[in-house]
Amino acid sequence: MTQTINIMPLSNEGFTENTRFQVYTDRQFDKIEPLQKLSEEQRFEMRVVASVLPFRVNQYVIDELINWDDVPNDPIFQLTFPQRGMLEPSDYDLMAQALRDELPRAEITQLAREIQGRLNPHPAGQQEMNVPMLDGEALDGMQHKYRETVLFFPSQGQVCHSYCTFCFRWAQFVGNKELRFASNEADSLHRYLAQDSSITDLLITGGDPMVMKTRHVVSYLEPLLKPELEHLQTVRIGTKALTFWPQRFVTDDDAQELLDLFKKLVDAGKHVAIMAHFNHWREMETPIVREAIRRIRATGAVIRAQAPLVQHINDDPDVWVRMWRTQVRLGIIPYYMFVERDTGAKRYFEVPLVRAFEIYRQAIQQVSGLARTARGPSMSAGPGKVEIQSIIELNGEKVFVLRFIQGRNPDWVQQTFFAKYDEKATWYDDLVPAFGEEKFFFTDEYEAMCNTEGHLAGE
Ligand SMILES: *Cc1c(COP(=O)(O)O)cnc(C)c1O
Repeated sequence: MTQTINIMPLSNEGFTENTRFQVYTDRQFDKIEPLQKLSEEQRFEMRVVASVLPFRVNQYVIDELINWDDVPNDPIFQLTFPQRGMLEPSDYDLMAQALRDELPRAEITQLAREIQGRLNPHPAGQQEMNVPMLDGEALDGMQHKYRETVLFFPSQGQVCHSYCTFCFRWAQFVGNKELRFASNEADSLHRYLAQDSSITDLLITGGDPMVMKTRHVVSYLEPLLKPELEHLQTVRIGTKALTFWPQRFVTDDDAQELLDLFKKLVDAGKHVAIMAHFNHWREMETPIVREAIRRIRATGAVIRAQAPLVQHINDDPDVWVRMWRTQVRLGIIPYYMFVERDTGAKRYFEVPLVRAFEIYRQAIQQVSGLARTARGPSMSAGPGKVEIQSIIELNGEKVFVLRFIQGRNPDWVQQTFFAKYDEKATWYDDLVPAFGEEKFFFTDEYEAMCNTEGHLAGE
């Protein structure tokens, strides 16, 4: 198939115009037609879990992505619908009893808050740390952890078209505003970027910034073309809209204006990177997602793909092989394989690091060099992004060979360090230095950062 780079307004031929965005939340399980085929007990279990963890799914996902003949094993069902195993049995029982007793709403909410508090809602200190300062004021809704890249959480983009069950930002979606990052301060964003010429990348994230109307996206992104932001070379947009609502780029009323904005940024010399979140090749099979990918690429924007490795969805090298191959074929660049973070429903999704490394290795061995741009398995921990490079025996001791992909101190980047082999470890915090050493090479420096630079040190 040849792909012509057509940047003229594209026709919507073959796609129903403005497919209505119909969304369901935890109060509407009864309205989701295919769920009615499940047992009463299964629907109750979902209600229990959704009283604690966020739930939101839309009609496109229900109709086009989930194979209902394969429920509950279907990966997209696991990606979007609550499962009993996501809560500790004791917490599950507490909430189940509260619902059976039909406790008042306020008491249910109170119980939900307690259980949420036990699920490590703010992994790696991301709420206190990484907050940038401008003129003596903390800039909420922004994070600046790695020298080159600033994260921005636009207030209009702090929901998603559907929620992923394993989301590490889940705490933002459970209704407690204090747990939310958000900013509508386009002006302080631009001033902050302008005063630091080492910042080359802006990463717009959420929630999902692609839930925003185009006019909001324009208000954040168009000013990046000002001469004082010449040093900003890349605009990244973190999104799962290609999975959950590809209509955003095809049939939505302001889809063309969004594509025009991408093209305008590209033509003015910026690199526009759509950081697409794909967990499974099934998310890239519908005609409309293919069309959305084609249209984005036609603007000159590049799509890069990243995802965590999670049990029940993609803990199988064959899934990654097919996913990466599909991406390369569609012109998408595989970027990161992440380790599931230590928060929320991690008990259900986590994969031992030993197994994560094995899945990565087996998958990467089967693809061509063009798909080996996917780095990982990578843990976004307090000190930085830590990659498991290999598992070897050294001086008679079995060890994890680790490397910083990103470091809170840029000098750590690319440095190797060793942790004791541990079959059960699922996260950075479980790791201890190998060879009987007390600390990793960066431990003292990192702890000092945590104590003294509360505002610079997180995610
Ligand atoms: C991953 C990440 C980035 C981007 O890092 P890259 O390696 O450049 O992709 C920036 N900030 C934070 C907080 C991150 O976790």
